[in-house]
Amino acid sequence: MARLISGSAFQRPIEQFFEEKSVFDKTTLAALKKLATDSKQPFETVLIKESGLPEETLFRLLAEAYNLPFCETDETVPFADLPERLASVCAREKLLVISLVDKSLLLATFQPARIRNITPLFTTLGYEASFQVTTSSRVALLIASAPETDSPQDDLFSGIHSLASTLKSSENRPREAEKINDISISLDTPSVSELVNKTLLLAVNQGASDVHAESTQHGARIRFRIDGVLVDRLELDTSTAAGFFSRLMIMSHLDITEKIMPQDGSFKVTCEDREVEFRIACMPGIFGPNIVLRLLSGAESVKLSLETIGMLFDELEIIRNVTRSPHGMILVAGPTGSGKSTTLYGVLESLADPRLKFITIEDPVERRIQGVQQIQVRINRNEPERSLTFARGLRTILRLDPDIIMVGEIRDAETAQISMQASMTGHLVLSTVHANSSAETLGRLQNIGVDFHLLMSCLNLVFSQRLMRKLCPECKKGRAPDEKEKALFGKMAVEQVFSAQGCPNCLKMGYTGRTGIFEFLQITDEIRDLVAQNGLIESMKFIREKRLRTLFDSALIKVSRGLTDFSELERVCGPCL
Ligand SMILES: [Zn+2]
Repeated sequence: MARLISGSAFQRPIEQFFEEKSVFDKTTLAALKKLATDSKQPFETVLIKESGLPEETLFRLLAEAYNLPFCETDETVPFADLPERLASVCAREKLLVISLVDKSLLLATFQPARIRNITPLFTTLGYEASFQVTTSSRVALLIASAPETDSPQDDLFSGIHSLASTLKSSENRPREAEKINDISISLDTPSVSELVNKTLLLAVNQGASDVHAESTQHGARIRFRIDGVLVDRLELDTSTAAGFFSRLMIMSHLDITEKIMPQDGSFKVTCEDREVEFRIACMPGIFGPNIVLRLLSGAESVKLSLETIGMLFDELEIIRNVTRSPHGMILVAGPTGSGKSTTLYGVLESLADPRLKFITIEDPVERRIQGVQQIQVRINRNEPERSLTFARGLRTILRLDPDIIMVGEIRDAETAQISMQASMTGHLVLSTVHANSSAETLGRLQNIGVDFHLLMSCLNLVFSQRLMRKLCPECKKGRAPDEKEKALFGKMAVEQVFSAQGCPNCLKMGYTGRTGIFEFLQITDEIRDLVAQNGLIESMKFIREKRLRTLFDSALIKVSRGLTDFSELERVCGPCL
């Protein structure tokens, strides 16, 4: 096993660390693992509660497992001496502040697994946070002195609404009267750019993936996509909307006089010290422009592990098995926004090894990973011969002697062929295909003209995935399953199911964050024979009936564990009740 790269985004499973360390004998370790599985809790939680190790020893080991220092000092900055918002976030997240110099913050946590979730909070507050590990009893002792917490979102949220309403002009001019002159006048009003900035900031703070600004008969409606679902955020009147759209278009260097053709572009802004890139797509509609902004947080160095993506134990085992081979191909299938690239990043990070060379070619690069060479696809419309396509990039990459290659997406036969060749000449190739299921992926590749026998011989694993919203742990409500639900669970003994409510923690949506559901199809020799004898369609029918855990089965497991609810299952997998 390779050593972890210090401070990088790479992390191996915590169980494995304790196994390698031989902290426990085999029986104890197995018992702890079983307890974690049975009680459906993270291994780490069980470890803290049940390991029987002296507290300091345990947390020192955890620190080592996460490659973090153990906090050796007794000094902390009292909550009363911290800026109010910082103090309230630290108290809520159960963190001690060891030091605060300028904007760099040293924090002590007893839950290192949560660091990846909480780091963005500090980034949005404008701090650069680094972490040490301390014991849970020390945190419990000091946190008692912390102030009452409130939601840091509230002030920005109410602020933006009052700003939008003060901008509402008393006289609402009809759309027809709108002229280019009007736009330039409204642009001079500084508060329109303030409104745009605050909207972008709110989107970043609420973890939106996209901002949708749509012209309507009466102005515009602004919605955010959060965890895959659109939520209304603002209504603008006609004149404010005109200013809003123009400001966005100018920021991204689009032509504001263009009323017919679609345009696209991008811009970067610094939101509370964090650089965020927005990709903009603008399409003129009958009432005015429709704009979609996609947020790309390039500088993010959040830890990603396959466990946190939502893979189950046996699925992780398959990934581990398959990636042990130094060559071959792994494909992830799913529609846009199903988390395919996040999963591939997770796989890359699970493979972390400084002795190997990793190169990716992506469109766009969604997340920067330390220790990985990432290349961005660039299409030059004016001079197509000067475009860097997937196929062209991939051919160059092969000359750079990589061990592991990630190809953002396989869209054409050429890219598929080069990827397959690479996977047969000592490279491990990871990629995604825009398809609904594992079986459909194979069909899709066959349709674009890929040599199917070649594909079957180099492919190790194909899996499809979707994302489901997770219930907010603060407000989810449990009840006994009804008869129909029990029937769906079948052999699974489920005593309680949960449903979404809504509270300040989840911005009243009832859900926070997402988890993946998967359908794994490992291409073993047995499957290769089956497909060779019976053809793809017949074989898939057979495999499905026999043993494939479908997306639906996977979703049902998440419901049975109280992670999500039936309405989310139906939203993602279709009606079933
Ligand atoms: Zn809630």
